[in-house]
Amino acid sequence: MEKGKNIKWHKAKVTKKDRWMQNAHRSALIWITGLSASGKSTVATELEHSLFRGKINTFVLDGDNVRHGLCKDLGFSAESRKENLRRVGEVAKLLVDAGVLTIAAFISPYAADRSSIRALFSADDGEFIEVYLKCDLSVCEQRDPKGLYKKARAGEIPQFTGISDPYEEPASPEIVIETDKLTVRESVNIIINHLKARKII
Ligand code: ADP
Repeated sequence: MEKGKNIKWHKAKVTKKDRWMQNAHRSALIWITGLSASGKSTVATELEHSLFRGKINTFVLDGDNVRHGLCKDLGFSAESRKENLRRVGEVAKLLVDAGVLTIAAFISPYAADRSSIRALFSADDGEFIEVYLKCDLSVCEQRDPKGLYKKARAGEIPQFTGISDPYEEPASPEIVIETDKLTVRESVNIIINHLKARKII
């Protein structure tokens, strides 16, 4: 039988906009992309903490964390990365529908995969905010907080972004942050200022 043929969408009585009114802020997806060690998890964690202290409903979806559960059956081939991000995009959509200002920290090296996630969200409400953490590969490699570049250079990790796998730079992200030039605090403040300017918070 054709998949989903007998499945209908059940409409809720509480809308996303009702939730925005009750929360006194809007929801959106802040999609943080960049090389490994560019600072995605660090910036996401600090941003979440700052927003939470400001009484904003917020939650981080982290690349490493989802691979412990939701996506633990997936590897790192282009196909698996695509499926990984498809699932994350759908979860993020549910969170945004639930009124949560969602932060996602994923290398997400392929532009096409990032566009597919963007397409799930309302362009009119500016719900998808792509944040590119631009950091020179040499700096990422020097930082190497998890020792992954060392392993990748030794040939112990196949398909490692930046070494043996491509990273496609975002063509027109909403925000670019040069994390090899700025502090974590400055990086977080750029995102918070953007959210305020766009009246999301
Ligand atoms: P990723 O999640 O992109 O793999 P991590 O956040 O795990 O990267 O690691 C980035 C490392 O770089 C951390 O050790 C962090 O302290 C350091 N760092 C230095 N400057 C910055 C900055 N401006 N933004 C984010 N991280 C920074």
